[in-house]
Amino acid sequence: MEKSALAELERIAGKNNLKTSLEELVCYSYDGYLKESLPDAVVFPESAEQVSAIVKLAGREGFFLTSRGSGSNLCGASVPKKGGVVLAFSKMNRTVKIDKEERFAVIEPGKVLDDLELELSPLGLSYPVDLGSGKIATIGGSVALNSGGMKAVKYGVTRDYLLGLTVVLADGSILELGTKTKKNVVGYDLMSLFCGSEGTLGVITQVVVKLVVKPKVRKVIVAHFKSMESACRAVNEVLASGLIPAAIEIIDKLVIGAVEDYVKAGLDKAAEALLLIELDGKESVVEEDGRDMNALLDRHGAYGKKEAASAAESDKLWLARKSAFPSMTRLKNICIAEDITVPVSRLYEVITRLNELSAKHGVLMGLISHSGDGNLHPHFLLDTKEEEVKADRVLDELTPFVVSLGGTLSGEHGIGVSKKKFLGYQLKENELRIMRELKKLYDPKGILNPGSFID
Ligand SMILES: Cc1cc2nc3c(=O)[nH]c(=O)nc-3n(C[C@H](O)[C@H](O)[C@H](O)COP(=O)(O)OP(=O)(O)OC[C@H]3O[C@@H](n4cnc5c(N)ncnc54)[C@H](O)[C@@H]3O)c2cc1C
Repeated sequence: MEKSALAELERIAGKNNLKTSLEELVCYSYDGYLKESLPDAVVFPESAEQVSAIVKLAGREGFFLTSRGSGSNLCGASVPKKGGVVLAFSKMNRTVKIDKEERFAVIEPGKVLDDLELELSPLGLSYPVDLGSGKIATIGGSVALNSGGMKAVKYGVTRDYLLGLTVVLADGSILELGTKTKKNVVGYDLMSLFCGSEGTLGVITQVVVKLVVKPKVRKVIVAHFKSMESACRAVNEVLASGLIPAAIEIIDKLVIGAVEDYVKAGLDKAAEALLLIELDGKESVVEEDGRDMNALLDRHGAYGKKEAASAAESDKLWLARKSAFPSMTRLKNICIAEDITVPVSRLYEVITRLNELSAKHGVLMGLISHSGDGNLHPHFLLDTKEEEVKADRVLDELTPFVVSLGGTLSGEHGIGVSKKKFLGYQLKENELRIMRELKKLYDPKGILNPGSFID
């Protein structure tokens, strides 16, 4: 990068908000996907106006920009693949407004999701998009990836909560989208287009999200199963029965063992699978649904059931689930978290295929699943980087199978660089063409997050 461009960046953002030393650049050269590419500089903007000035400079000087929340994504979406400048949003993390009466919050993109929840909870409100990474993931990153999480089965995904976005376009102009109303049908839905665009169409500088009233009561149940098939059947019947759990997660034998060894939550390591279920709402409804749920689980051969007796016990069981990833990283040096989604009725078929392919290619695999959405997260555990090819082979064979069942390449982690080669399995050529044209329209010079799923 030209020295004059760096000097101008410093003038716009301030000396403290520009980092160029190698040690600092390395920290922003990778994300949860663990592929590396060094940026030339990292800038920490503090306002939409600064972002606008930086984007204008990038357009003039011809350097690339990659937006970054916490870098927790698992598809390489925030790696500065062609160098240039990383726009890191950790200093734009303010809560601008919480409107209790209309139940919405106006927040900056760097706001961490669990921090938002801590502010909302005393007000009796909640933003229910509950990611496994909520302790670090930001609202900007989760809007850009349309993140889902554990409570999507009842509450939906990020897009379902978007009321407004402020976005800096590639020419530096500032676009304000959305309304404060729950309904809005005026022209094309440009706001939704930015949701899931992986930072390739604009830079988000403010987000308005809908909030829900915090449920009065929650009931957390753990049920063990002697076979994965029974656990999957139980999930299907739960959904078919009209019960709407806030979450219904599957964990397989390998992950149960890893988690139990790490957090000692009282799980049965001999089980082939377990379901972690949360019901929430009014006390009388949760009690009645709890009875129906327990009866249904019993019919499907659940054993060793445990119901959390207090909020602390509920949190402990959830901690077990949220520790799945770090627990697995204790088993091997490398843990690659994958993401596919299939119709819920096909869950067991796909899990069986996954196990067969992992055995065929000699790779250790542990599975967690937001099963109520048919969303599967196989985790491939490897000793060396060279072994990554084994996980690639599993995915090469699995992906066309998933699409043939009516499934999708990604339910929530996005495409980034990790799944770019698979796009053609799912998207038709005319869909891809329209996407490329949109990218050109929004970002004619290709300066925003280049080298990602769309160029
Ligand atoms: C242990 C673990 C558990 C996880 N659990 C879940 C889960 O349950 N559900 C789920 O959906 N995901 C999950 N994830 C993935 C990840 O945490 C989410 O995708 C998260 O939303 C990313 O947020 P981030 O702030 O880290 O964004 P980053 O990783 O920094 O960025 C993600 C994308 O957003 C873009 N971006 C960031 N900020 C902006 C901005 N201001 N403007 C424009 N674009 C921007 C980036 O360029 C990139 O394309 C998990 C990850 C880990 C490591």
